[in-house]
Amino acid sequence: MKPSIVWFRDDLRVRDNPALRAAVDDGAAVALYVLDEESHGIRPHGGAAKWWLHHSLAALREDLDKLGIPLLLRRGPAAEVVRKTTTAAGAGALYWNRRYGEVERTIDAGIKAWAGDEGLHVESFQASLLHEPWKITTKTGGQYKVFTPFWRAVSAQEFREPLAIPAKGHGYGGKLPAYDDLDSWHLLPTRPDWSGGLAERWTPGSDAGHRRLRDFVANGLSGYKDGRNRPDVDGSSSLSPYLRWGELSPFEVWHALGSKRSDSATIFASELGWREFCWHQYFHNPTLATANLRTEFDRFPWAWPGASGSSSDGKHPGHESAPQEFAAWQKGLTGFPMVDAGQRQLWHTGWMHNRVRMVAASFLVKNLGIHWQLGEQWFWDTLVDADPASNPANWQWVAGSGADASPFFRIFNPEAQRTRFDPQGKYIAHWIPEFGTPDYPAEIVDLKTSRQDALDAYKELREVH
Ligand code: FAD
Repeated sequence: MKPSIVWFRDDLRVRDNPALRAAVDDGAAVALYVLDEESHGIRPHGGAAKWWLHHSLAALREDLDKLGIPLLLRRGPAAEVVRKTTTAAGAGALYWNRRYGEVERTIDAGIKAWAGDEGLHVESFQASLLHEPWKITTKTGGQYKVFTPFWRAVSAQEFREPLAIPAKGHGYGGKLPAYDDLDSWHLLPTRPDWSGGLAERWTPGSDAGHRRLRDFVANGLSGYKDGRNRPDVDGSSSLSPYLRWGELSPFEVWHALGSKRSDSATIFASELGWREFCWHQYFHNPTLATANLRTEFDRFPWAWPGASGSSSDGKHPGHESAPQEFAAWQKGLTGFPMVDAGQRQLWHTGWMHNRVRMVAASFLVKNLGIHWQLGEQWFWDTLVDADPASNPANWQWVAGSGADASPFFRIFNPEAQRTRFDPQGKYIAHWIPEFGTPDYPAEIVDLKTSRQDALDAYKELREVH
């Protein structure tokens, strides 16, 4: 019997996986994962993401083993690897769940065309988003640029129930094509191994994601409305990496909330909506990570005099003119405890609380005058949930250059945010043990003058327009 290939991508799960289901229904399924860092335009994973991916693939392999399905790992340009592997396996069909980045879609379309020419059955499915970005359109047929009507339109739909794990299939008895050993990919850091804090905080894999989902629905959801803003308590779901890697599907999370929704559950559901909205933006704007959605921001004078030095040509991100400030921000040594605690949490655990992400991002862009792209790249490298859509969309939201963005003149005061959202100082004490001692650095920027500089620069930008 000819095997069917199921190509895993950002859907590292056996539950609610329509592509896997289709391959198993066909008969003998063989799973494939391709580490593609070479295709033109592909964005290679950051360091923390690679750590997660390693463990996630190991967990997926165990889950697939139980179903009698081998997992082939291959490294290289996806178009070439998928073609070669499919041919070498003598496969009769190829299945995958859809992805929504432009580069990835182009690769997939090429493979689909090739497979069609070869007479293979090829089929793709919706699994990673609750909406298909081309199907939800405004009345005039365009993309949504404002969240509320977007989410109203998306959440009015009926979302399918999650699919169960497929029953153990026939297994593939034939000779397998060549495949790589996971360790040979060197996704885990060595010399130095900085991943100890990540391992303490997280257990990657679909089973762990489901445990967290059950625990959150049973114990965390009812307090989410208020708890989600508090970095000092475990008030949000911590599901982001599981959703990012597809260890949980959004359909599973949506249905776990039940149909009768409290205020907290409705707010939580709308956070899933923000994830959808970020992907909607990314689908329609493939350069989301590298270009301002609002192009008037192209003329913004990153870094302005409030930070040390200024970039007069206004073309380049500001770290060339404010390298020390940027390094202090990365290391959590700015002298502003809310920012520093967040950056240290990020460095240690690969995750930062949402409230603190907003504060740290606003501080970088508005008080230090450093281009949002630099912050985005730092997060890309350090977050275990680093997401090609959510990361740039949120950075642009904070910077004011994005869709339905927070206006530029909304500048978070990190001190006010600290007293409001960490009232007993527990979060700060945990991440900055030296806080309040002479070992803690002095503030690297004056909040008041840098804020004013930011507002003046923004005013100038608007006047020029
Ligand atoms: P919860 O509050 O429990 O929310 C549930 C889920 O909803 C999250 O797991 C996530 O999938 C989704 N979600 C919540 N808020 C947002 C949001 N603003 N945008 C998109 N999805 C959201 N999230 C990422 O998943 N990856 C990123 O790379 C990322 N980068 C960010 C960068 C900045 C500058 C900011 C301000 C936010 C970023 N976020 C990102 C969004 C948000 O901070 C995280 O999703 C959230 O902190 C994850 O924690 P949680 O799972 O406990 O969230």
